[in-house]
Amino acid sequence: MTISRLARPEIQSLHAYDAAEQVDDTIRLNANESPMVNPANRFRRPLNRYPEVRPQKLQTALAKRFGCKRERLLVTRGSSEAIDLLVRTFCRAGKDNVVTTSPSFSMYRHYAEVQGAEVIEVETSADDDFAIDVEAILGACNENSRLIFICSPNNPTGTTLRRRQLEYLLRERGERSAVVVDEAYIEFCGSASVIELLDQFPNLLVLRTLSKALAFAGARCGAVAGPEDVIRMLAAVQSPYALATPVVECVEDALEEEQLALAETAVTELIQERQRMMQVIAKFAFVRKVWPSDANFFLIEVDDPGRVLDRCEEHQILLRYFGGPLASCIRITVGSVDENNQLLRTFETLEDS
Ligand code: PMP
Repeated sequence: MTISRLARPEIQSLHAYDAAEQVDDTIRLNANESPMVNPANRFRRPLNRYPEVRPQKLQTALAKRFGCKRERLLVTRGSSEAIDLLVRTFCRAGKDNVVTTSPSFSMYRHYAEVQGAEVIEVETSADDDFAIDVEAILGACNENSRLIFICSPNNPTGTTLRRRQLEYLLRERGERSAVVVDEAYIEFCGSASVIELLDQFPNLLVLRTLSKALAFAGARCGAVAGPEDVIRMLAAVQSPYALATPVVECVEDALEEEQLALAETAVTELIQERQRMMQVIAKFAFVRKVWPSDANFFLIEVDDPGRVLDRCEEHQILLRYFGGPLASCIRITVGSVDENNQLLRTFETLEDS
């Protein structure tokens, strides 16, 4: 038995789309494509042809990078698409629910609402550095809790769930829920990916993205890793030809050793910048608190967030405000050294007035 039996019954029996065959060195008159290569085509592969239904080479390269078997990975249009696929695959509208923590990434709620699934949010507290309480998550689950989203490091608080705690959650829920660990920011935290736990826990799914550490948000490429049968179901739900030829080619380039080494250096520098920014910002009188962060952003609490946001806007700097339980907080993404210095200069003007 695996968690695939938790999926919507119609998805469990869904067959993958039967696409026209693609065979090299053949005359292709089977897919209603144009025989003409458009002169604006600046890519290695001809754009008059459909891309592969699922990009095989990319799947192998990403599985290698993320450390799992290729059969356990589905390449998606950003990890956002993986969230959507998971919710559509597992949740029956009006019946099932998704459990997540609050505050966390708002797309879990968004896609649950699109699907008509209930969202159960387990609050975390600023006083406790937004630590995730696994007992509270277990207490919030019921028999219709199909998916538990754990964002670690968490957006927007920067908190990471300890490995032991995650293992406890995985064990306790067993085959009753799929536990989805969203590792969008894992490269900034120094800990290993929980993808290495896939063999041990058949109810674990892991989301990865190229949008953050690899600086490829514009390419829209991410992945979900999990049990093979679940990955097959998600693949059947995903649109065929989801990844466009230009995207596949540029991501293949970004995964070359040389590019990966550059990206790794950039991540190290960004982590240093994060530490510098957090230390300097903590000294401003209007800043009440700077929370620790394992991501490429950090959260601060200030006396008057409206005033800070307005002043930053006057200086053409955008920060992120959420309101609600984070009413006195602002999330700051770590930028380039120059961008960060501009923010610091703007903050200095708030001290003067
Ligand atoms: N997960 C988290 C926690 C995020 O913060 C984001 C983007 N902000 C995503 C997933 C989605 O990223 P993408 O679709 O670009 O992979």
